[in-house]
Amino acid sequence: MHGTRILEEADRLMTVCNACRYCEGLCAVFPAMEMRRSFSDGDLNYLANLCHACGACYTDCQFSPPHEFDVNVPKTFAIARAESYAAYAWPKAFSGVFARNGIAIGLVAALSVAAFIFGFAAFNDRQVLFGVHTGPGAFYKLMPHKAMVALFGAAFLYAILALAMGVRAFWREIGEPIGMLADPGSLWQAMRDASTFYGFMLCFASTVVATLYHYLFAREALYPWWDLPVVLGTLGGIGLLIGPAGLLAERWKRDPALVDQARTGMDVAFILMLFLTSLTGIALLLWRDTAAMGPLLALHLGVVFALFITMPYGKFVHSIYRYAALVRYARERRMVGHTV
Ligand code: SF4
Ligand code: SF4
Repeated sequence: MHGTRILEEADRLMTVCNACRYCEGLCAVFPAMEMRRSFSDGDLNYLANLCHACGACYTDCQFSPPHEFDVNVPKTFAIARAESYAAYAWPKAFSGVFARNGIAIGLVAALSVAAFIFGFAAFNDRQVLFGVHTGPGAFYKLMPHKAMVALFGAAFLYAILALAMGVRAFWREIGEPIGMLADPGSLWQAMRDASTFYGFMLCFASTVVATLYHYLFAREALYPWWDLPVVLGTLGGIGLLIGPAGLLAERWKRDPALVDQARTGMDVAFILMLFLTSLTGIALLLWRDTAAMGPLLALHLGVVFALFITMPYGKFVHSIYRYAALVRYARERRMVGHTV
């Protein structure tokens, strides 16, 4: 007996797949499945998070619909993942709300913060909001540096805490001790396997490097076009425009049989926020020397804030849970004597 109907279905499919084993070379799910004869709730959520929804096992499967076995591993795992993310979410109260209204919440949060910054600046000094500012400290005329650090530091720390609490719940459910998350061999193997997550972290790291550059050399924005923070930010921004646009297009074209339609809102919300962060950032870069800088900065900061607060409840969490699942998979393979 499993905790939910979808886990019952996942158990049924894994039992069929374990007898068939045709897909064992396709991804990590099937070798991990083969290490088991029965599946607990935690095992099924672990397998669901090893899946990266490529759809190959659905296309290749001789038992997929209309066959009476009705085997659809990607969709079943997508629903199982979404339900488990809601169960792991911290704080609990947010998970359902975000899942249903992700796009609306993201856009309302972005516009509210932008309006707040805009209104605050307009109330204090309209010249600051609509004036032309260039050179060091230009951004901080709109919003003091300390206020910016406090607001976005708090939003970022909240996202990290919520993600950490979710992973902790997942790690416990799949039956691993917390200490194993720090096993260096498994972490390294998982890092090599998790290329998507790795790519995202690379983009994120470029932003952090740019920030460190700013602080270490005590040089305030605005920087010239050729300076490292601007070059990194521009390249990262272009990458994050193309990447999310590609993800949205891919989702649009995806076979509806593979998609968990009920959770479209929150999945799309994260991709949309990522896209809008880049779009408003690049617009800010292009028009930073004009009177549009103030309103554009307010809008960009609002979108970044919304990106942070929606991050723990949307598509982004899969990269974190998948990474944790890959750490466990690397450890399992070592335990059964596979070469890593
Ligand atoms: S998905 Fe289909 S073909 Fe692949 S292992 Fe399962 S039952 Fe076999
Ligand atoms: S859809 Fe998931 S389970 Fe199927 S081959 Fe792709 S990653 Fe593996």
